[in-house]
Amino acid sequence: MRPARQIAHDVQSGVTTAESEMATSLAAIRAKNEEFNVFLYVDEAGALDAARRVDQRVANGEPAGALAGVPLALKDNLCQVGIPTTAGSRILKGWLAPYNATVVDRVIAAGAVVMGKTNMDEFAMGSSTETSAYGPTRNPLDPSRVPGGSSGGSAAAVAAEMTPLALGSDTGGSIRQPAALCGLVGLKPTYGLVSRYGLIAFSSSLDQIGPLATNVADAALLLEVIAGHDPLDSTSLPEPSPSLVAHLDDGVAGKRVGLVRELFEGAEGEVVAAVHRAAEALRDAGATIVELSVPEFRLGLSAYYLIAPAEASSNLARYDGVRYGLRVDADDVAAMNEATRTVGFGAEVKRRIMLGTYALSAGYYDAYYGQALKVRTQMIDAFKRAYQQVDLLLGATTPSVAFKFGAKTSNPMAMYLSDVFTIPTNLAGDAAISVPFGTGEADLPIGVQLLGPGRSEAQLLAAARVLELADGRP
Ligand code: GLN
Repeated sequence: MRPARQIAHDVQSGVTTAESEMATSLAAIRAKNEEFNVFLYVDEAGALDAARRVDQRVANGEPAGALAGVPLALKDNLCQVGIPTTAGSRILKGWLAPYNATVVDRVIAAGAVVMGKTNMDEFAMGSSTETSAYGPTRNPLDPSRVPGGSSGGSAAAVAAEMTPLALGSDTGGSIRQPAALCGLVGLKPTYGLVSRYGLIAFSSSLDQIGPLATNVADAALLLEVIAGHDPLDSTSLPEPSPSLVAHLDDGVAGKRVGLVRELFEGAEGEVVAAVHRAAEALRDAGATIVELSVPEFRLGLSAYYLIAPAEASSNLARYDGVRYGLRVDADDVAAMNEATRTVGFGAEVKRRIMLGTYALSAGYYDAYYGQALKVRTQMIDAFKRAYQQVDLLLGATTPSVAFKFGAKTSNPMAMYLSDVFTIPTNLAGDAAISVPFGTGEADLPIGVQLLGPGRSEAQLLAAARVLELADGRP
């Protein structure tokens, strides 16, 4: 599939039409969706309508936007008015979103053609898309393996060449991790850079929306479109969208990059080797590599699995059978609430709600939730100290390449460990990107991760571009 930038350029200049690009995307979805279980909903009529509107703008000689006619997939926790939105959960089956998420408004205004909603782990809790109530998504590179998660459907849509771009959300790694497992570029923006208005909340102090793309430039383009202040999100940073595409070729000459032991130790040998090769590539491009140890990063997983479930237990209290989606009738309101939640939530979501409720309960609050918040502060300080020494950090995105279905479903801890390298960034509210770099077991892609301080997206994308070139991609 052509890069998004190319499609937008060709649509604007009349070489192709948005309608024909949309038809190509739809044909790919129809041909492959049954096998890979990527889209939970395909909005054929809406996409056709959107494409025709873009073509009309071009015909009128108007600028049709940075994403003119580019087919795009939305993770199913993003609201689009009138469109079924489930967050991968049975409890929201049949619920129609009453308004657009800000990111949806922005991609549409930029000319993108939204094709539909993609499968995900239930309420974004998972690392493989196996916790979806609608069945797992298959990795298009090897259908016997997971695409990663929780934005597995969005990653698979791009990897299967159904759409050149997709939006995902990342609370503990859910954009970067599936990007790594599907051979894509995925970026977790600085907390507050992208509005979460219209994102179904999982853990509000961690959630961020970000791009999945086949290449670094397309990720930069999509991020530029969705970033920037939004008065509808109280956590939105007060500044306009940063300039990213213009800095793609800035390179890494003169930059200091910290190769962090805790961000690759314990990974498969081929993954560790890829990280070292990435360090060499950055050095060849003029960066100085500094070997670092940040022991605090080891505490990330434990802190995350208290903070995220604690916030989720509160955020998910609203699914009570009254206002949204499923209701299972019973004799009184309390029994109806219980019956609805018993039937509507899957096992992983229930596990998180129980964990979170327990961590917040009187008598345990200080020992668990309070302690986790202190660890989070230590983590933030550790990142700050690291960024006094270096500009960026380098590590692995995931401990392994894409794993087989069922490999980790019986052991929650094994699944949680999939995000051991991505979680620290979320706790600190900083930015990070995963970029494909070489292959490992069974010739499957490996993702390496670049991490930077808040608002370092332009630097991260430029460094990722260096790795993309070194990996032999144009
Ligand atoms: N895998 C992690 C979890 O299950 C992160 C998920 C995410 O980023 N949404 O919570």
